[in-house]
Amino acid sequence: MEINNIDIESIVKQVISEVACNDKGTKVETVATNSVIPKTAKVAMLKSKKNIEVQEFEIPEISDDEMLIRVEGCGICGTDVHEYKNDPFSLIPVVLGHEGTGEIVKIGRNINRDTVGNPIGIGDKIVTCTIPCGECDNCLTMPDRDNLCENSGIYGLIPDDDKKFNGWFGEYLIIRNGSTYFKVNDMDLKTRMLIEPAAVAVHAVERAKTTGLLSFNSKVLIQGCGPIGLMVMAVIRTMGVENIIAVDGDTKRLDMAKRLGAKHTVNFRHYKDSEQLKLRIKEITGMGADFAFQCTGVPQAAANIWSFVKRGGGLCEVGFFVDNGNCSINPHFDICNKEITAVGSWVYKVSDYPITLDFLRRAKGIDLPITDLITHEYPLDKLNEAMDTNMKQAGIKIAYVNK
Ligand SMILES: [Zn+2]
Ligand SMILES: [Zn+2]
Repeated sequence: MEINNIDIESIVKQVISEVACNDKGTKVETVATNSVIPKTAKVAMLKSKKNIEVQEFEIPEISDDEMLIRVEGCGICGTDVHEYKNDPFSLIPVVLGHEGTGEIVKIGRNINRDTVGNPIGIGDKIVTCTIPCGECDNCLTMPDRDNLCENSGIYGLIPDDDKKFNGWFGEYLIIRNGSTYFKVNDMDLKTRMLIEPAAVAVHAVERAKTTGLLSFNSKVLIQGCGPIGLMVMAVIRTMGVENIIAVDGDTKRLDMAKRLGAKHTVNFRHYKDSEQLKLRIKEITGMGADFAFQCTGVPQAAANIWSFVKRGGGLCEVGFFVDNGNCSINPHFDICNKEITAVGSWVYKVSDYPITLDFLRRAKGIDLPITDLITHEYPLDKLNEAMDTNMKQAGIKIAYVNK
């Protein structure tokens, strides 16, 4: 077998980690030799509403159960923008950013594998998933549904404390004990920054599959072509679903939906009311969609979508990660008479991550232009601007990149 650079790198890493074993055979704390870790590093601290300031702190020593990550990049999520605008989660001061990825530069002696058992060490690229508490009623009674943990933590939504490096919007991140993380060395930076939103989509599709209503020839309607809606589309495309109808009010997003394989795109702004829109959906689908994914945060849209689904069809609500208000539906027409099977989808389970990594590899395999979802990149000191771009919906996925 031909030895390439990657092989040499991994052999060197292995030798270094073997040398770094103490007499009991356990690995001692190792530090990257190829890059000097500075004494201090910068983070983007949300100090007050709409005010991110770059601050510099000393990087604390890590414990035997912690890792220090040099951040390479992190996507900006709708949740970050909500927190930035109004602090609904009361986290200020906080370093946001939960869609990040980076390289392990320092690793505690008790860590040698990722959450699915892959060996990890200095130089490996990783992403973090959630930190379920393991102690609440839901964790104890439904351990396979850790997304429903009542106290789940996630880097980027941990208020500032003495660790300082709690979010991916910084130069470094400290990963603490009890976290879940995955080695993703085979993926480029853009793909790695899309893993977290892709996991949201994968979980939604897994929930949709529990209805038994998704198959190759299903007519699937996706309402809302932001990053999540587009990612849901990509997931069902990799499953072989071809008959996809995308609904949005933005031409750029609908164009992207086309590129990801939507058969029909519908711009709701071209219809004077929801009745006209409903007629257009009927025209495309015949009796209505077999299944629909609601991926907008707009109450009226969440109400309308019920009328796009055919009798006996299914619906997955993905769009309301924050409370955007109520909407009304008609229980007779929308639920009872049509026997719609509806499921909700909340974030993702830790076990959705390995599925997500496979999905992204498969998406690449069938040439879906997934990484084109990232339309803008900003450095750390331009994150206020990045948030602004996101609020204006000027692009699709905006990201912080640590160059
Ligand atoms: Zn997110
Ligand atoms: Zn819990």
